[in-house]
Amino acid sequence: MSVLPILTWPDTRLSQVCQPVDDPGDVAHLIADMFDTMYAAPGRGLAAPQVGILARVFVMDPTWKDGEKTPMVCINPVITETSEDERVGEEACLSIPNVAADVRRPSEITLAYTDQDGVRREEHLTGFAATCAQHELDHLDGLVIFDRLSPEERTNLEAKFEARA
Ligand code: ZN
Repeated sequence: MSVLPILTWPDTRLSQVCQPVDDPGDVAHLIADMFDTMYAAPGRGLAAPQVGILARVFVMDPTWKDGEKTPMVCINPVITETSEDERVGEEACLSIPNVAADVRRPSEITLAYTDQDGVRREEHLTGFAATCAQHELDHLDGLVIFDRLSPEERTNLEAKFEARA
């Protein structure tokens, strides 16, 4: 297992739509490396394109920074239900270091995905876990937090990102 380099925006690989994974066994090694990379960063979610692999897989652990590990592997994830309620949460991204944005998203989702054992699951996510999953799923469609902002907010955040030390 190893810590992989994380691509930084605007690397063009962060703007690609990723390909479905045919066999979860093919990404077992990648997943182990992605967890190592995410925890080392340190972050709470990481999508395959952030380490240059254009496959529909992300890992997340929304609670480990609070002292409890709840690692989750999502292969070929699809949102099957979203709440009408929305939540504005501050989101950071390992590929856009040193800035954060307030992003509005559905506050609850149901996520269907294949886990690391190849089992198709469906899980209802709320709170930060729902936000985190939607952020990571965006990466699989070539979207980053900039793409979820108004044109004015985007311009401001891009300027802040470019001016970072
Ligand atoms: Zn991100």
